[in-house]
Amino acid sequence: MKYPSSLVERAVEQLSSLPGVGRKTALRLALYILANSKDEARALGASIVNMREHIVYCQCCHNISDTELCAICANPSRDASLVCVVQNVADVMAIENTGQYRGLYHVLGGVISPIDGIGPESLQIDSLLRRIEEGEVKEIILALGTTMEGDTTNFFIHRNLKDLNLDVKVSIIARGVAIGDEIEYADELTLGRSILSRTNFEDSFAL
Ligand code: ZN
Repeated sequence: MKYPSSLVERAVEQLSSLPGVGRKTALRLALYILANSKDEARALGASIVNMREHIVYCQCCHNISDTELCAICANPSRDASLVCVVQNVADVMAIENTGQYRGLYHVLGGVISPIDGIGPESLQIDSLLRRIEEGEVKEIILALGTTMEGDTTNFFIHRNLKDLNLDVKVSIIARGVAIGDEIEYADELTLGRSILSRTNFEDSFAL
C-alpha cells in the first residue's frame, strides 16, 4: 500500500503490530486519530506509555495492580486457603467475571513451552511453590487451559509439589472447555461451572 505520508505509514506499522490488527484496521485507526484533536491523540499516547512504565505486579499473585498487593489479595473476605493457578491476567479477569470464585490467584505469566523457549524458570512457578510452603494454602486449582503446554505445566507443578512433600490438595477445573481453548475465551457460565465442579488432579489422569 502507498501512503501519502511517511508519518502515517509509521503509525500504521506500529498499530498493525498489535494482535488482531491488520494493516487495513491500522490505517482506519490512524485516520481516526488524525481526524480527532491533538489533545485526544496525546491522551491516547500518554495512557499507553503511562501504563507500560508504571504498572505494578502484585508481589503475591503477580496480577496487574496499582499497589504492591492487588485488591484481590488485600481483600480479607477472600478465601486465602484456595489458590487458582492461571496463565495470565486475562484469565483472572475472566474468572472474576463469573462471580463464582472467592479464593485467590497465582498468575504464572505463561505456560511451559520448550518450542518457544519458555521453561519453568521463566514462569512464576517457584514463587507458587514458596507460597504453598508458607502453609496457608490448602488447595490449588489448576486452570491453565487444555493445551499440551497447559498439561505439561500442570504435571510439572504437581511433580514439584510431590518432590517437596507439600501437603496441598491439587484440583483441576472440569473440562467443559474444548481441547485447545484458552480459558479466557470460555463463556462465563461454563467457566464458573468448571471451577465449581473441579476434580482431584490425580483422578484426572490414569496412573
Ligand atoms: Zn495479588
